[in-house]
Formats: sequence, C-alpha cells, structure tokens
Amino acid sequence: MADYLISGGTGYVPEDGLTAQQLFANADGLTYNDFLILPGFIDFTADEVDLTSALTRKITLKTPLISSPMDTVTEADMAIAMALMGGIGFIHHNCTPEFQANEKFEQGFITDPVVLSPSHTVGDVLEAKIRHGFSGIPITETGTMGSKLVGIVTSRDIDFLAEKDHTTLLSEVMTPRNELVVAPAGVTLKEANEILQRSKKGKLPIVNDRDELVAIIARTDLKKNRDYPLASKDSHKQLLCGAAVGTREDDKYRLDLLTQAGADVIVLDSSQGNSVYQIAMVHYIKQKYPRLQVIGGNVVTAAQAKNLIDAGVDGLRVGMGCGSICITQEVMACGRPQGTAVYKVAEYARRFGVPVIADGGIQTVGHVVKALALGASTVMMGSLLAATTEAPGEYFFSDGVRLKKYRGMGSLDAMEKSSGSQQRYFSEGDKVKIAQGVSGSIQDKGSIQKFVPYLIAGIQHGCQDIGARSLSVLRSMMYSGELKFEKRTMSAQIEGGVHGLHSYEKRLY
Ligand code: IMP
Repeated sequence: MADYLISGGTGYVPEDGLTAQQLFANADGLTYNDFLILPGFIDFTADEVDLTSALTRKITLKTPLISSPMDTVTEADMAIAMALMGGIGFIHHNCTPEFQANEKFEQGFITDPVVLSPSHTVGDVLEAKIRHGFSGIPITETGTMGSKLVGIVTSRDIDFLAEKDHTTLLSEVMTPRNELVVAPAGVTLKEANEILQRSKKGKLPIVNDRDELVAIIARTDLKKNRDYPLASKDSHKQLLCGAAVGTREDDKYRLDLLTQAGADVIVLDSSQGNSVYQIAMVHYIKQKYPRLQVIGGNVVTAAQAKNLIDAGVDGLRVGMGCGSICITQEVMACGRPQGTAVYKVAEYARRFGVPVIADGGIQTVGHVVKALALGASTVMMGSLLAATTEAPGEYFFSDGVRLKKYRGMGSLDAMEKSSGSQQRYFSEGDKVKIAQGVSGSIQDKGSIQKFVPYLIAGIQHGCQDIGARSLSVLRSMMYSGELKFEKRTMSAQIEGGVHGLHSYEKRLY
C-alpha cells in the first residue's frame, strides 16, 4: 500500500481505512450502521459548511432534506415547512387528485382551517388549540368553510375567562364580523401581506362576494417568508413543492391538475420502478410537460437505474425494503441494504448527471451524513419527520404518551383508504392484497421548525469532522478515494452506542 507524507511533518503515515470502492468491492450488502467514516482535517467552522445539493438535473436545494410522499408525512403543512427551511416535501397521492392539487395551492392561503360556529363553546376552542396548536379560529354560520363569516375567536377573546366559563357560547365572546378586517377572494399574497401589516391582526379571513369564508391567511405564515433565508423557491418566488403520482392512465389527469397547481417536480411513486409502465409515463410527461422535473424509482441497482435514465428521468429515488415501516424484503424477497444501494446507483447515475435521493432507513442525523458520503445528493425521510406538528393526522394518547399515526403506504391500512398507495404496491389485476408495510405510531416530536435546524447543524458538524467544506467536496473526496471508511463489527457497533450505564436520558437538541 502507498504511504504518503504529511508535508513538513514528522514522516510517513501509513495508508488507513477503505475507499468507498473497496468498501463495496465484495458482494456483502451493507447499510448505514455497518460502517463509519474516518475523520479528516478541520480548518473551517461547522456553520461554514455549504449543504447546497441537487434534487434533480435542474432543481438545487440549500438543504438536502426531503419529506416522503406518505399520507402520514407530507401534506401542505409539511411541504411548506420543508421548503421554508431549504428542503422540499412531496405531497402523497393516497387521496383524490383534486385534494392533492389543492395542497400545493394552499401555500400561504389556508383553505381548510379549523372553523367553528357561534353555537360552539369556549371549550371547543380550547380543545382545537390542544389538537392543532393555535387559537385564531374563524366563526361561520354553520361552522364550516364556504359558509357566511360571522366572527373570529382569538386567544385574546378567551384568555381571561374562568375555568367554569368553558360552556360559554362563542357568539358571546367572538369578535363580530363588523369589526373584522377581511380581504376579497382573488387577493394576491403580496396584497394580503400589506393588509395584515396595516391591520396588525394575526389572521386575515378571505371572503367571496357573498361574504362566505374561502380561506384565511396567518401573519405567522407570511412572516415566515421573510424569516427563512434558505427557503426553496421557484422563479416566481413561490415555495418549491413536489408531488407523487402513479403510472396508470388516470394518473395523467392527476398530473394535469398538479401541473396547473404549480407542482415543480413529480416523483413516480413505485416500490420497483424499473418497469414498462414507468418508462412509458416518463416519456409521456417529458413529451407533454418538457420542463417538469421527473424523479423515477425506486431503484437499487445500476441496471434498474439505466432504464429510467435512458427514458429521461431528472433524478432517481433509491431504496427498496429499508424503510422503517417496510416489510418488502420479508414478503417479496427483493430489495437491497441501503448503503450498498445508494453507492451503486449514485456511482452509476453521476456519469449522466442524474442526482440520487437516498430514500428510507434514515434513523439518525449520522445516517444522513453517511448517505450523502456514499454519493446521494439528498435524503428522503418518513419516520424521522412523522409525528411532528406538521405531519398530517391528529395526536392521540396511549399509556400517557402523546403519539401520531405513522404507516407504510403499502400497509393494508393505507391501501384500504384510497387508490394511490394501491398503485404503488399492486398490479392492476391483483386479486389478493399483499401488504408491504405496517401501520404504527410514533411519539410526538414537536415541530420540524426545531428538528430540521438540528438535522442541518448535525450534517454540518459531520462534514466538518470529515474535513469537507461542502457536499460537493464530500462527494468528490469520496470518488477520488480520499474519503476513508471502515467496516464495523457487531461489537464495534455496540461500542459506538451508549453502553454500561444504569440509566440515562438521551436529549438530542
Ligand atoms: P423511513 O424514513 O425509514 O420511515 O422510510 C420511508 C420510506 O419507506 C418512504 O419514502 C418509502 O420509500 C418507503 N415506504 C413507504 N411506505 C412503505 C411500505 O408500506 N412498504 C415499504 N416501503 C414503504
């Protein structure tokens, strides 16, 4: 083995560790816990590390993090929050095409807020606050959207009521319609912002010409647009948003609605993407919407990737069987350990300028760093982002623990809901449903407004220890062989975790 000289130092240092090529040279399938990265030299601070990375051939993100198109992970709230922090969310398709397209439209305009009626009580407001974490609630005649606006209840209206007053009707405490500042339907975000600035209110109801409530805008949402320097935006300064579609005939209608709603990138959602159906869909989209970015997948081998690259995809989603809710490997006997899958596909796809998303199996920020060090440009997460405030679904308690549901899109639970996830996991003629995922729950993680900054800082610290000032430097260090890896035995893995303590508390941020 070659030795090398540390310039001006004390002499030769023997070559140490394995290059990525050596690490994956034999046929063992490896995943994130099976190896470590050897530390390098630090001559920069962690916050100088540039995390800019490509999502597709034409879309670049400042934060390489993506929320998964799953019905317990990404709808509008998650997609908006991810884009604000420099990543992107992909809206799931386990719903009607109209619902999915509306989730994209919703950015800034909230079209399905919690609404109550004058005959609801203060107790109902407090309950909504516990479930949804806010209290500026519009009041309409029937307590639904599309009905006449009659007032709004904010925390200021109810804060000083005594405990026993929870039965007070909202008609008695709300700020009535004649005292509200509203905006007409059709108002632009910019105009709405100006009205909110002038009125100094927290919420701006949007009403049509019959005075029926059609949307609301929250000051906090508008403020966010100013406060997020990393935000992922398109050329019209709209937040970037992705959406998932299947490969069937009726997905073409879904695709039309999504492009009309302004989706910037589409992911073709399939657990095994190397198929005639997906290739045909890529051709169709590229012909009808040549500027729309299309991500193909999922794939885990270079041979699978080749067919999709030849068809014209702008990005690849990598992972089969590695997701936390996934039983694909158990049931289908197909898949690949995720470390090997990411390295093999990324190493092939880079020759054609096609970026790779490492999808699934990310349990820690260290796994994110490892995925990026193996050649992935971005990382897609389900479980890590589930049970956050922004994830769809309501919190519930079990044994005193606050939880949200998290389920695989190939679980029977999800497939029974609608057609979207059936498409990902079934063929047209299938008579018997074979589950490829499970349904479970995850403990409340709070808002991703705190969690994603932790992930960003964690990745920057990882890169600093490695000695990579940016993700592109990290990748070139890996491909040049400068980046060194080492396999971990089972006992090394135990050593790398907390051990030998009677009890401990693991607080991460
Ligand atoms: P996680 O981040 O480990 O929870 O994995 C999330 C990923 O698992 C998703 O982005 C999908 O690629 C994949 N996935 C989602 N639902 C299922 C399923 O039901 N079976 C297998 N894989 C799934």
